[in-house]
Amino acid sequence: MKFSTAFEHLWMPFTSHQEHEKYPPIVISKGDGIYLYGADGKRYIDAIGSWWVSTFGHCNPVINTAVKQQIDKLEHVLMAGFISDTTMELTKILSGILPKSLSKIFYSDDGSTSVEVALKIAIQYHAIRGDDRHAFVALGDGYHGDTLGAMSVGAISEFHSLFHKRFKEQYYTDSPYCFRCPVHKKKENCSAECMDSLERILNQHGKNIAACIFEPMVQGAAGMRIYPPKVLQRIFDLCHRHGVITIADEVATGLGRTGKMFACDHAEVVPDIMCLAKGLTGGYLPIAVTAVDEKIYDIFKGAPKSNRTLNHGHTFTGNPLASSAAVAAMKLLIENQYPKSAESTMKYFSKKLLSLNDHEHVAGIRHLGFIGAFEIVKDKMTKEKFPEEKHVPFKLSQIAAEKGLILRPLGNTVYYMPPFNITTEELDMIFALTKECIDDI
Ligand SMILES: *Cc1c(COP(=O)(O)O)cnc(C)c1O
Repeated sequence: MKFSTAFEHLWMPFTSHQEHEKYPPIVISKGDGIYLYGADGKRYIDAIGSWWVSTFGHCNPVINTAVKQQIDKLEHVLMAGFISDTTMELTKILSGILPKSLSKIFYSDDGSTSVEVALKIAIQYHAIRGDDRHAFVALGDGYHGDTLGAMSVGAISEFHSLFHKRFKEQYYTDSPYCFRCPVHKKKENCSAECMDSLERILNQHGKNIAACIFEPMVQGAAGMRIYPPKVLQRIFDLCHRHGVITIADEVATGLGRTGKMFACDHAEVVPDIMCLAKGLTGGYLPIAVTAVDEKIYDIFKGAPKSNRTLNHGHTFTGNPLASSAAVAAMKLLIENQYPKSAESTMKYFSKKLLSLNDHEHVAGIRHLGFIGAFEIVKDKMTKEKFPEEKHVPFKLSQIAAEKGLILRPLGNTVYYMPPFNITTEELDMIFALTKECIDDI
């Protein structure tokens, strides 16, 4: 099949047109475990779980079967007045996985919409109680999705700065970026001083702030910035003191990815609202969850047409096909006791990652569960990056693709998000290829 004419009609996400024209996307037509196969038959190892979603490998036979069975039963039913039995089953399973207090589950379509829902709930919660709070505070360099509301609490300037004129009441803390600590602390003498910035914001504007939103333990899109539990604990302490709702955006980190069921578990904290999406269906279909504390839900109890109804819902909310994939993926998670059962593989993964440290252009290695990353630097000692115009990370991903390895660096950060059932042999292959790529560059 010739695709050249289709390329001309594509507008690719996060892609400059110039690059798109020079480097057309690789067309993939088959998946199997960690492998993807190009339309030309070439094999690629997907080391990034196709944007962090693939938790049990591509075309997992268990999830495949579940979706096939569902499609012969029911493809869709509206979720207002009605709900599919499969979505009911999913709700039951999730309520068993989620922290007890997060007992109310609101469905939407993807990570961005789960965040939109959380933000609206936070504002309306305060409004119902007669408290006019419209502002949000978020972590610096955080990412919460690309729809306008989610973007308003995101702080990656490259993606969002143009649109921020629309958003008046947003505050951003320092980013807990340990490798390049904004307050110049070392691991040994850190007491979460990066969150002094949050304290200042809350002291000044706390009365107007409805909620604080953060990616717990790992700021993903910012470059897999992994930060210590004490930072998370300090965020919670400060928010509680100011009556600010805590929204844990676990879209990327939730459901086992970080080695615990939820990233919040590392700090033994439970948020008021939690967002889940990416790994929920094992990477099959879009569906998302906004899980809410019962105490917040209770405030919304009231007659129709009072201001107590959450007027939100998407056409495909609670889609049965997506629900069936999620049911199967959650059963795989529970029945195989992930993430606990993968502990030795995670250890092996971190060992492999740390072995890259010998390389003169590798620095800032970090890992948590099945997230691992390092930075490509020009100078290991000073942490200086290569000049942007050299496009070193981009070239690295090009070389990797030629060698049959899919990496997509975030800025100068190269990262891995393998599926939970990856084998040590497969990890060996990924890191052998990575070494070759860095040497080549
Ligand atoms: C990916 C991501 C989102 C957005 O999810 P989409 O499904 O792309 O809308 C939101 N928050 C975090 C932390 C993410 O990693």
